[in-house]
Amino acid sequence: MSKTVLVLGGAYGGLHVAHALLKKQLKDVKVVLVTKNTHFYWNLASIRRIIPGQYKDEDILKPIEPALKRYPSTSYELIIGSAEAADFASKTVRVATATGDRTVAYDQLVLATGSRTPEPDMPWKASSTYEEVVALLKETEDKVKAASHIVVAGAGATGVELAGELGFEFGKTKEIILLSAGDKVLGGDIAAPAAANELKKLNVAIKYGAKVESTRPAAEGSGKTEVVLAGGETIATDLYLPTMGLVPNTEYVPTQFLNENKTVKVDEFLRVLETTDVWAAGDVVSKPRAGFMITQKQAAAVAKNVELALADKAPLVAKGLPVDILACAVGRSRGAGRMNSFRLPSLGVWLAKGRTLGLQMMGGYLDGGVA
Ligand SMILES: Cc1cc2nc3c(=O)[nH]c(=O)nc-3n(C[C@H](O)[C@H](O)[C@H](O)COP(=O)(O)OP(=O)(O)OC[C@H]3O[C@@H](n4cnc5c(N)ncnc54)[C@H](O)[C@@H]3O)c2cc1C
Repeated sequence: MSKTVLVLGGAYGGLHVAHALLKKQLKDVKVVLVTKNTHFYWNLASIRRIIPGQYKDEDILKPIEPALKRYPSTSYELIIGSAEAADFASKTVRVATATGDRTVAYDQLVLATGSRTPEPDMPWKASSTYEEVVALLKETEDKVKAASHIVVAGAGATGVELAGELGFEFGKTKEIILLSAGDKVLGGDIAAPAAANELKKLNVAIKYGAKVESTRPAAEGSGKTEVVLAGGETIATDLYLPTMGLVPNTEYVPTQFLNENKTVKVDEFLRVLETTDVWAAGDVVSKPRAGFMITQKQAAAVAKNVELALADKAPLVAKGLPVDILACAVGRSRGAGRMNSFRLPSLGVWLAKGRTLGLQMMGGYLDGGVA
C-alpha cells in the first residue's frame, strides 16, 4: 500500500527533505509538501532587497512548483496552505488552503515550518503568502527611501547585516542607529569587535545597553515612531526596523511536544519526543541555533531517517556540522566573522558571503542540487 510522507514548510529545511526523498523515487511513497508560500524565499538577501536599486523580488523569490516538475506527478503533491492543527494520534494534519480546509493523513510527518518575525511584521522571513512578502518588501524599501533617521533594533547577525546595508548605502545621507541590548554586538561573539568596527566605518552609530521596551507613534502628524528603551529613554525615528526575537511557527503542534520557547522537542535522531513517526528540522528546532546550514544538515538527517522508518529500520543519530561558522556581511564590500574560534578576515567574509549574500547557492536549494 502506498505511504505518504507529509512535509510541512517549503523553505531550506522542508524543500530539502522533499527533494532528498523524491530523488530516491522510493517505491509506493508519495511526498506531500505543504507550504504557505508559492515561492522559495532566499531570506538571507532580504536585508539588501530593501535597499532601493539593489535586488529585485525575482532575484530572491522563485516559484517552487517548477522545481518539483521533474519528478513523476504521482510521486508528489504540492499544497499551498497553512498547517493549522496536527493530530499525532490520528496521524493527520488540518491544512487551511485558499479553497477551504483539508485533512491530510500521513505515515511519516516532517515539521519544517521555521520561524517568523514577531509584530510588527518585517520581511526577514517568509511568514505569509508570496503576495504579502512581496508587498512587505516594497513597503519597507519605500520607507527606507523616505526616512532620514532609521533605528535598527537588535544587534544579532541580522541587525548587524541590516545596519551594514543601510550604512553602506546611506551612511553619509541618513542617520542610522543600531540598538544593542548588551554591551557588545553579536552577543559578545569573538567577531563582535570587528563587526562593530566595520559598522563604524559606515557611519552607523551603535547604542549599547539599549533594550527596546516598546514603540508608539510620536506626536500626531509627525509620522515618526517613538522607541522606548528600558530605563525610559525615548528615541524618535522616521523608521523603526526590529530584527530580534524570531518566533517558531509551531502553533499547530500540540503543546506537550513543545519546549517553553515554543521550539519542538526532539531526540538525537531529530524525531519528536514521544512519537515514532514525526521528525523536525531547522528553525522549529533552533538547536544548536537557528541557521540555514544547520537546517540543511538536519534536513538531510531527517530525510535519511524517514527513508529508514519507511523501510522499518532504526534511525541514525543526526550529526551536527563539523565546524561552527559565523559570517556577517557588513555592507557590500566588507564583513566580519569566525570559523570556530578563528577570526575570519573581512575580505574573506565578503567573498564568501557579503558579495552575493549566498544567492549563487539559491538554485541548488530550489532544485534539490544540494539534497
Ligand atoms: C536576514 C536573515 C539572514 C540570515 N542569514 C543567515 C546566514 O547567513 N547563515 C545562516 O546559517 N543562517 C542565516 N539566517 C537564518 C536562516 O534564515 C534560517 O535558519 C532558515 O531560514 C531556517 O530555515 P527553515 O526551513 O527551518 O525555516 P524558514 O526559512 O523559516 O521557512 C519556513 C517555511 O515554512 C512556511 N510555513 C510557516 N508556517 C507554516 C505553516 N503553519 N504551514 C505551512 N507552511 C508554513 C513558511 O512560509 C516558510 O516557507 C538568517 C536569517 C535572517 C532572518
